[in-house]
Amino acid sequence: MHSFERDASGRITAVVYRSNGIDHWQRCAAVFLCAGAIETPRLLLHLGLANSSGQVGRNYMAHVATQVWGIFEQEMRPNRGFPASLITEDMLRPPDADFSAGYLVQSLGIVPVTWATQVARGRGLWGQRLVDYIQKFNHVAGIGINGECLSQPGNFLELSDEIDETGMRKPRVNFSYGANERSMSQHAAKFMTAAWQAAGASDIWTFERSAHTIGTCRMGTDRDNAVVDGSGRSFDVENLWICDNSVFPSALAANPALTIMALSLRTAEAFLGRGAP
Ligand SMILES: Cc1cc2nc3c(=O)[nH]c(=O)nc-3n(C[C@H](O)[C@H](O)[C@H](O)COP(=O)(O)OP(=O)(O)OC[C@H]3O[C@@H](n4cnc5c(N)ncnc54)[C@H](O)[C@@H]3O)c2cc1C
Repeated sequence: MHSFERDASGRITAVVYRSNGIDHWQRCAAVFLCAGAIETPRLLLHLGLANSSGQVGRNYMAHVATQVWGIFEQEMRPNRGFPASLITEDMLRPPDADFSAGYLVQSLGIVPVTWATQVARGRGLWGQRLVDYIQKFNHVAGIGINGECLSQPGNFLELSDEIDETGMRKPRVNFSYGANERSMSQHAAKFMTAAWQAAGASDIWTFERSAHTIGTCRMGTDRDNAVVDGSGRSFDVENLWICDNSVFPSALAANPALTIMALSLRTAEAFLGRGAP
C-alpha cells in the first residue's frame, strides 16, 4: 500500500494499494500500520502524516550485536548443534562498565552460507583463503550479544531522492555508533574472548556488527516528542494505530520479536476498549 484517503476531519477512510499496476481503495474504520521501523516512517514521511511532533524517522536504533568466533578441536556443527539462545543476562548492568545500559550474551547457530559471508566481511578473506578457512565450519562456534543502543540526534531515517515504482521516495538510514555503543562493543568483545579462551577455542576473532531496526515512531506520553501514545495510537490521526518495531522508545537488550508481539496484543486490547492506557 502506498497511500491513505482521509476525510475533512483527518480520519483515514481508505487504504490505497497497488496490485498488478492498478490502484485499489480499501475502505476502513481504522488502520493498523505494521510495516516495520523502516517502511512505517517512510510511508508517514512520504504522506506528511502523524508527524506534528517531528519525531517520525527520529530515534533510529540498532542493537550492538558484536560476535566472537573460534575454532574448537571437537566438532561443533553450528548449523545443527546448539541453537541461538540465551546464555546469560549477567552483563545487563556489568559492574565494571564504562558505558550506560548493557547487553545479553547468547549462543549462535549459523548456516554455512551466512558463516561464509560473515567471514568475508569480518576477516576480509576472499578467494582461496576464504575457501580454505570455511572448511573448518564444523569446528566453529560463536557467541554474540544484543546490546542496548542509545538514541542520538544523528541516527535517523529520512527520504532519499530515489523513487520506487509506486512513486514513493526510498528511505535512507543514517546510523553510526556513539561512544556508548563503541565502549559496550569493546567490553563485550573482551568478555566473550575470555570465555572462548577458557573454553579452549583457538583462532579467536571478533566480528563487529549491529542488528535489528528499532525506533523511528516512538511511543510516549507527550504528543510534542512522541508519535504514538501508550497504546500505540497516533496522537495526530485518531483512527491510526502503529504496531511494530518503530514504536519502541528504547532499544532494550533483548531480541525484539516477543516485545513487538506483546505490544501488539496490548494495542489490540486498547483498540477493543478492554484496557491498556
Ligand atoms: C535475519 C534476521 C534474523 C532475526 N532474528 C531474530 C530473532 O532471532 N529474534 C527476534 O526477536 N528477532 C529477530 N529478528 C528481528 C525481527 O525479525 C524483527 O524485529 C521483526 O520481524 C520486526 O517486526 P515488525 O512487525 O516491526 O516488522 P516486519 O516483520 O518487518 O513486518 C513488516 C511487514 O510489513 C510489510 N510492508 C512493509 N511496507 C509495506 C507497504 N507499503 N505495504 C504493504 N506491506 C508492507 C512487509 O512486507 C512486512 O511483511 C531477525 C531479523 C532478521 C532480518
